[in-house]
Amino acid sequence: MARRPLVVGNWKMNGTAREAAHLARALVDGHPDGAADVAVCPPFPYLAAVAGIVAGTPVALGAQDVSPQASGAHTGEVSAGMLHDVGCRWVIVGHSERRTRLGETDEAVRAKFERARESGLAPIACVGETLEEREAGEAEQVVGRQVDALLADGGAEAVGESVIAYEPVWAIGTGRNAAPEDAQAMHRAVRDRVASRRAAAAESVRILYGGSVNEKNAAELFSMPDIDGGLVGGASLDPDRFIAICRAAGG
Ligand code: PEP
Repeated sequence: MARRPLVVGNWKMNGTAREAAHLARALVDGHPDGAADVAVCPPFPYLAAVAGIVAGTPVALGAQDVSPQASGAHTGEVSAGMLHDVGCRWVIVGHSERRTRLGETDEAVRAKFERARESGLAPIACVGETLEEREAGEAEQVVGRQVDALLADGGAEAVGESVIAYEPVWAIGTGRNAAPEDAQAMHRAVRDRVASRRAAAAESVRILYGGSVNEKNAAELFSMPDIDGGLVGGASLDPDRFIAICRAAGG
């Protein structure tokens, strides 16, 4: 099965309202409407404004996190229904910055993943090992555990219609990307893990690589058979760099 490439920009907690609008407009103007899907994930306060700019264009909107609760007394949280209302199609769950700094567990990520799907959002579930875990030879085991949490209790079918982002923690924001062959090996391992539960889901799930993707390394990373695009942090804040990365993915 040919999987359509996807490139997602994670703007994290950067920029101002003016900069977010400027960046969104630059992407809409410069984005080649090609063979890749493209999405951007601005900070919550700027979602509505960016939604207005990208509406009706090939650039889709996503959020960086979502509450596992549907609604109610959860001060400071944002629900999947609210994200859907404001025009989001995508939502990142389980980013390593939340797993490591905010103590998000595999179970919490799984709950967010399910809630997003129930509300009509497509989750992008992040998995990845730390440097310590890689050096201890535990990378595949750690990532396998994170993927298993998504697959448990019949979750494999949902995974087939969603996105997994393999983001080695040591490669995020460090300028040190995984070697394409090493990333490919982990993507293959993730796909095999999904296949062990549901073969069709393994064929359809898009597995993105994230961790210091830039306009120079993107083409080689994306040429790997099990790398279906990228989740891009730093380089997504510069429209020219992000558009070059989208082009490298076929978009
Ligand atoms: C990320 O935070 O998802 C990420 C991949 O960041 P960067 O591209 O800056 O490494």
